[in-house]
Amino acid sequence: MTKDWDARTRMVHAGTRRSQYGEVSEAIFLTQGFVYETAEQAEARFVALGEDEFIYARYGNPTVRMFEDRIAAIEGAEDAFATASGMAAVNGALTALLQSGDHVVAARALFGSCLYILQDVLGRYGVEVTLVDGTDLEQWRAAIRPDTKAVFFESVSNPTLEVIDIAAVAGLAHAVGALVIVDNVFATPVFSRALEQGADVVIYSTTKHIDGQGRCLGGVVLGSKEFIRGTLEPYLKHSGGALSPFNAWVMLKGLETLDLRVRAQAQSAQALAEALQGHPKLDRVIYPGLDSHPQHALAQAQMGSGGTMLAIEVAGGQAAAFRFLNALELFTISNNLGDAKSLVTHPATTTHQRLPEDQKQHLGISPGLVRVSLGLEAIGDLLADVTAALDVI
Ligand SMILES: *Cc1c(COP(=O)(O)O)cnc(C)c1O
Repeated sequence: MTKDWDARTRMVHAGTRRSQYGEVSEAIFLTQGFVYETAEQAEARFVALGEDEFIYARYGNPTVRMFEDRIAAIEGAEDAFATASGMAAVNGALTALLQSGDHVVAARALFGSCLYILQDVLGRYGVEVTLVDGTDLEQWRAAIRPDTKAVFFESVSNPTLEVIDIAAVAGLAHAVGALVIVDNVFATPVFSRALEQGADVVIYSTTKHIDGQGRCLGGVVLGSKEFIRGTLEPYLKHSGGALSPFNAWVMLKGLETLDLRVRAQAQSAQALAEALQGHPKLDRVIYPGLDSHPQHALAQAQMGSGGTMLAIEVAGGQAAAFRFLNALELFTISNNLGDAKSLVTHPATTTHQRLPEDQKQHLGISPGLVRVSLGLEAIGDLLADVTAALDVI
């Protein structure tokens, strides 16, 4: 039944489990443990778990399972495992899969913490990581070897909004039997068809659009039953990255309104990008929904939208960018994204501060770059705020 529903309907109904009380809104099962009627029942559950059976919240919980089932149905994945944060999901997927001697190819333009896991953590355990320019298929082709175990990339990169061709990279990876792991935060489940396009594993930080109101941390890994229950679950249930039932409930309620929110935010992002194009105080407006974006056609084919995020390069470097940020009255300076509130951040001095100067330059994280996350405010107010702040510079 669930399969025939549109994604927007699945966002509201899929995965719902009702208790004996028949509640309409999903229940929060705020419990660590579960009661067994007999010792024999406890023994049996530790051997194999039935559909509605749980033993400990680090392994699974009814509210968390509702969230996992709902997002799996939305994404078209066989299964999902929810985690305490987006980074627990990224780290869990990579660590559960890889072992010493394995080779991974990853796009260079990554969220700072993802880069830390790939470069610092995996390296320490003897995993070889080759970084490539994710938009250059020739670099992927050259880097992927017969013994490559996995490829990893953000389908739309943070903060410079490079769009990576999931189908093309998956074609190269699958030719050598490598697993395709996609961090899909910027695409959001609303614009994602990543599994259909060739991804084997899709990861979301649910902290972002899925909560969508800046409250809770969370993450999720989606993929085949074999990967989620066979490879990932044994690692995650023993290493302790479980999502809390309360946070899972917030995420479930977030999914109900996800489609409406993300489409409205993307509409505002498109409008703001169009209005700012060619502004004399800006060197560049980066938005995948603009014709001027180098991967505009790919973004349209892959997502059908430019997404909810844009980046602008303020002329005059860091000093001008800071004057702009400090002059904004409606936009809030914060490094989160996907929130109902519109947020701005200066990647070079915050989220990507740790990167060496040459890497920042290579990734386009210039001193004037400002990342903008569109919220749910009226577009007229957002436009007026940005325009007034640019006038102050
Ligand atoms: C925020 C983010 C993460 C990490 O998620 P947390 O929930 O903060 O741990 C990973 N990848 C991308 C692209 C992100 O934007």
